[in-house]
Amino acid sequence: MKNGKTDTGKKDGMSIVSDPANYKKHEMDFNEPQIDEALKPEKSDVSRRNFLKLGGVAAATATVAGAGAAGFKIGRSDDAYTGYGRTYQGGDMFFNREPFRVKTAAMMEPVGKVERPDRYDFIFDRIGEIIGMIQKGVWHPGMGLEKLPGGVGDYYRKHPDKYPIMMDSLQKYGKSREDWKNGKHLRYTLSAAYTEALCQGGMYNRHGATIPEDPDDVFKETGKPIPPEEWDYRHVKREKPMEFKSPQHAAKLIKRMAHLFGTSIVAIGKFDPRFMFTNKMRGMPNGGAEWGGKVPEHWKSIIVFGVPMYWDQTYSAIGYCTSYDAYFRSRVTAGLLERFINELGYPARAQFPGYHYEIMMEPQLLLTGLAEYSRSGMVMVPELGCNVRPAAVVTNIDFEYDQPISVKMSEFCMKCKICAEACPSGAISFEDEPNTVVRGFKRWKLDEEKCYNQWASGQTVDALGCRVCIGVCPYSRKNTWIHTISRELEPRDPTGLVADGLLAMQKNFFRIPKGQDFQSDWLGGKEDVYHNPPWYLRAEEVFEGIEKTWEYHGMS
Ligand code: SF4
Ligand code: SF4
Repeated sequence: MKNGKTDTGKKDGMSIVSDPANYKKHEMDFNEPQIDEALKPEKSDVSRRNFLKLGGVAAATATVAGAGAAGFKIGRSDDAYTGYGRTYQGGDMFFNREPFRVKTAAMMEPVGKVERPDRYDFIFDRIGEIIGMIQKGVWHPGMGLEKLPGGVGDYYRKHPDKYPIMMDSLQKYGKSREDWKNGKHLRYTLSAAYTEALCQGGMYNRHGATIPEDPDDVFKETGKPIPPEEWDYRHVKREKPMEFKSPQHAAKLIKRMAHLFGTSIVAIGKFDPRFMFTNKMRGMPNGGAEWGGKVPEHWKSIIVFGVPMYWDQTYSAIGYCTSYDAYFRSRVTAGLLERFINELGYPARAQFPGYHYEIMMEPQLLLTGLAEYSRSGMVMVPELGCNVRPAAVVTNIDFEYDQPISVKMSEFCMKCKICAEACPSGAISFEDEPNTVVRGFKRWKLDEEKCYNQWASGQTVDALGCRVCIGVCPYSRKNTWIHTISRELEPRDPTGLVADGLLAMQKNFFRIPKGQDFQSDWLGGKEDVYHNPPWYLRAEEVFEGIEKTWEYHGMS
């Protein structure tokens, strides 16, 4: 190990988080083997005996436990910073996935008939449609579920238990908006300004420099449908696309460019239509409600990438945290990469946050080996835990594809349950193993309606988002040396003792509030935090006229 990187002595040309130094060193060198022979899966499948012989468990546990307090302190220093790399978009937190490649990712073996998700399986399509109907006067909650029209009405009639929770969320959302309007939340002035700058000033300021362009916006302006066969080629100027020397050349170049355009992690896979929403296509009438199950012919490959939210804010969930910092940065990567691919003569379509997607992102991260599934319903990547906001670009370039990984993160979730204990809304499953079959796959099923109920009543300016589960997850840690040691040792330990040691450390060294304590004061909560907010988000320390009537109970 050197500087937090796994030094294999070979190039990392097809790696996920790439070391810029290696790019230079191995530029366009495609003939060497991609990974060190010694690290190939069959050779790295360390036996229990060998692991112990290497001093693995003893050394690991002692080192990790002994270093706990120091690592904790380092993690709070400004020098640990964003956690995704102090030097170059993650270059210093490189995790070599090659020893851990597998044919099928955990929880991705179908156990029944695989069904494609419908757009109304996505909670933001449900909310968006309901709010749109209320605003247009087409429907209001007083009319009841029976009269709720369209696909969203059908969805709630099929899942009637979710409907009252959604109606309760709408009421809570209204109350939260009133509170903000009446100046109740002066305490959160700085985090609100930070959020709005990123959201309204950055992401949705489409008359400024907002990227990527969204086909729905253009459809709304012109009234003319724009099918993907038109939209995805809109900046292609070449008569013929540039021809890559090989799929490996294509993959290496596009990953390099994705890093250059700002992402922390990137991988490339074959486009899998099983995870594409039905009845959804941006740029088409009603968001593509009549699109059915068609898959555009040129959607052959998918480039998947993501960035984390800044760590200090994330640890200070709920009131001091926002997703928009990471949303904004992953959108920028998506927009730039989309245009770059068009310039080479290929179609490209960005899939990006907030909810500008035709595909479910999580399975794409699993299929390309960026991540594993987690209890909290999100995916976890070795470098960032579940603190990752993904985006993607779909194209028809012929790439060398990445394969799934197994680094035992899903296994760790079976023992851990920290997120379920801390979740303010009870949305996360406590089941030991994932046992709910969702569209053909076993999952820990997140109760999205309950989760959104918490979002709607939280202490955030847009009354959206909670992120407690991300903040408290032991995998969501800044890029300190202790994190680096842990993520290298744990997946190589066949005994499970490293995982047990890390979990015990997490539960003993870190104060984690109970779910109820995170809630807003008007719901009987303490507006508690996991870690205290950083100084630059404590409005009372910077501005006149804010009387501090609360205590911070989190860790410093
Ligand atoms: S907090 Fe624990 S159980 Fe939850 S996602 Fe993280 S590791 Fe898994
Ligand atoms: S975002 Fe909050 S409410 Fe939703 S699952 Fe995570 S902890 Fe629970």
